[in-house]
Amino acid sequence: MNRTKLLELPKIELHCHLDGSLSKGFVETTLGRKVDPSELVVSKSCESLNDYLSKFDIPLEILKDREILKDAAFDYMKEAAKENVRYIEVRFDPITISTDSFSPEDAVQAVIEGIRGAEKEFNIKGNVILCAMRHFKIDVNRDILKLAEKYLNKGVCCVDLAGAEAVFPTSDFKELFSEAREKNIPFIIHAGETGDPNSIESAMEFGAVRIGHGIAMHGIRDLQDRVRNANITVEMCPTSNYQTKAVEGDEYPLREFLDNGLHVTINTDNRTVSGTTLTDELELIQRISDISDEEIIELQKNAINASFADSDTKRDILKELDLFSAK
Ligand SMILES: [Zn+2]
Repeated sequence: MNRTKLLELPKIELHCHLDGSLSKGFVETTLGRKVDPSELVVSKSCESLNDYLSKFDIPLEILKDREILKDAAFDYMKEAAKENVRYIEVRFDPITISTDSFSPEDAVQAVIEGIRGAEKEFNIKGNVILCAMRHFKIDVNRDILKLAEKYLNKGVCCVDLAGAEAVFPTSDFKELFSEAREKNIPFIIHAGETGDPNSIESAMEFGAVRIGHGIAMHGIRDLQDRVRNANITVEMCPTSNYQTKAVEGDEYPLREFLDNGLHVTINTDNRTVSGTTLTDELELIQRISDISDEEIIELQKNAINASFADSDTKRDILKELDLFSAK
């Protein structure tokens, strides 16, 4: 599919962090100064995970304000709408950006308001995912569950677990996710990005409906079979995976996962930090994983089906995809 068609394709993004996706223009307006791209975007040769993480410094500093956060969510939707992303789930951790005068609940409300505002102006819809963090104490992550419970289906669609997977293994979060299940809060987990296959086993055991990345399943047919049979969707983020060295060389496991019938979706992870768009990611996988035009459309259908969009939005976007493929 050429770039013009890829841009026209109705797209769905399920794995994208707000703080890593602030547009340069938005950051410059907020800071009131010019920003060098190297302050926000990793270099092509991204040397390390620390190099990658350092690009979140400015975003995390400027987002500590209700109005700015609301405008950031609005700007994020506007940018995604420019490449015809029709539905997007934006994730963030409301705890880290909170201050004494700006509560995590204020942050959740601000992002929801920004999204709803953008839905009125652009041809895009969205929902919020609240990230529990691996380095937080369980009581802090319980506060995330409480916020998710309060705003569930009112802008928030689920809870995620993010952070240093290799340092804080997924298996440590059994209690948190059994509480999420008791509260009927759906959850997804970053699993098998920098962690090992056990992380995916734990996510499956806890009842995650989707997993982020899943790279560690590469070459493990039996685990892939069980993830597929459990109806778990995999949110893959190719550029980010190369930058953080979750994969090296040319062997991106997307082709393998698709051939084994896994429900896969393609995402940006961090639009600005990774210096990418969803169009770029789709162009990349056609090149490196030999993905056909039909499969590109199929990946969008996987995403909308695995999303938390309401049934009308799902139906509309599936119809748009059918019209697109009939063209
Ligand atoms: Zn992520």
